[in-house]
Amino acid sequence: MANPIVAIVGRPNVGKSTVFNRIAGERISIVEDIPGVTRDRIYAHSEWMGQKFNMIDTGGIDIGDEPFITQITEQAEIAIDEADVIVFLVSAKEGVTDADEKVAKILYGTDKPVILAVNKVDNPEMRTEIYDFYSLGFGEPVPISGTHGIGTGDLLDVVCQAFPSQGKSIEDTSVKFSFIGRPNVGKSSLVNAILGENRVIVSNVEGTTRDAIDTKFISENKTEFTMIDTAGIRKKGKVYETTEKYSVLRALRAIDRSDVVCVVLDAKDGIREQDKHVAGYAHEAGRGIVIVVNKWDAIEKNTHTMQEFEATIRAEFQYLSYAPIVFVSAKTTQRLNNLPELIERVNKNHQRRIASSVLNDVVMDAIAHNPTPTDNGKRLRVYYATQVAIQPPTFVVFVNDPELMHFSYARFLENQIRAAFDFEGTPIHLIERRRK
Ligand code: GDP
Ligand code: GDP
Repeated sequence: MANPIVAIVGRPNVGKSTVFNRIAGERISIVEDIPGVTRDRIYAHSEWMGQKFNMIDTGGIDIGDEPFITQITEQAEIAIDEADVIVFLVSAKEGVTDADEKVAKILYGTDKPVILAVNKVDNPEMRTEIYDFYSLGFGEPVPISGTHGIGTGDLLDVVCQAFPSQGKSIEDTSVKFSFIGRPNVGKSSLVNAILGENRVIVSNVEGTTRDAIDTKFISENKTEFTMIDTAGIRKKGKVYETTEKYSVLRALRAIDRSDVVCVVLDAKDGIREQDKHVAGYAHEAGRGIVIVVNKWDAIEKNTHTMQEFEATIRAEFQYLSYAPIVFVSAKTTQRLNNLPELIERVNKNHQRRIASSVLNDVVMDAIAHNPTPTDNGKRLRVYYATQVAIQPPTFVVFVNDPELMHFSYARFLENQIRAAFDFEGTPIHLIERRRK
């Protein structure tokens, strides 16, 4: 299910971010309007010839005030840890430099495929410059030009060929979930508390090294879960792990691999701007979402506290109106034993399929009670609705003119669908299509 990861490494100024943006193309706009995530621009989804993959620009992960050489060392290590395929970028303009050789040395240490790409080959005459780079020891270099968009297709051909074959993995039907949130909200405490409550730990998930810290467990009602590790929760010790961008990157990666994301808030600290970034990404990515308010033991409460907190969350996270909210404590384990069950329910809703006949009854009923809008005397006509996808549930509504489907009417239809079927915890998508 998880898409392969490509990481771009290389010394500063070879053109990593230029090439990254070129390959990510328009797809990067998926996360465009989420504050904080866009500024990072170090992680993007892309696709080449039907092969989906995710891409990391390691150059965007700055490791504080460390000296230059530490920075590139750390970035290369991140690539080795996180990626399935590494693109080692150098520049035809400057030729082979000491820093390139330094990066090469670190990359010798991995058995993951490393593809050498020579950037800034802006015209055919410059192609002869690439031969020097054989000395780096990564075989035939691929000439490209990030700014002119030359050769990136050839590079992606080579990259896609190097992806590990995906056919051999057995179908994993466990419910995959993760805890996401800013530092100190209690993610690792929650992980440990959950594992304490559910003693039947199957095993650490086999497979690639980067997934080795996921944990599988079976809940009381015999459901199998995979808890996806985020932000190096149980793998502390590397310098780069404390950096902001790396932790955002890990969170985004975990969200991509999850069916259900638990957005963790800190009852003691309240809601901060940073809480919204990854939550927004999880929503955009169409994952199931549970809002977990942790440290509920640590605040003074009266009979209204929970309601008030809930109202604040609803106001701050309006786009997550479908997400259930739970108030827990990792410390006392209060209400934690119900969490796996809730995650499972959200997961079911996330995969729910509605038969067209039943769906159309609901939609037509809704229209009968609340007539479709008109614009300049022209009325929206809804002919038929059908579910075209799950995870998240996605519905196509055939209409006479999509322009006539106002936001508020789409919202009304969504609410009617939600009232008729259990979609708690999952976003649902409505797509209007024209049919004469
Ligand atoms: P990074 O530090 O490796 O991420 O490099 P950048 O992407 O920021 O690019 C560094 C500089 O190289 C910028 O001035 C880019 O415009 C330039 N650059 C990037 N790709 C090319 C290219 O294909 N040809 C030329 N001539 N310049 C490029
Ligand atoms: P992470 O950075 O999100 O993984 O957060 P940690 O799990 O490391 O927790 C951060 C701090 O919050 C630690 O000092 C924990 O002991 C504390 N903490 C975590 N969960 C709870 C809780 O439910 N109640 C209280 N009072 N403290 C908690």
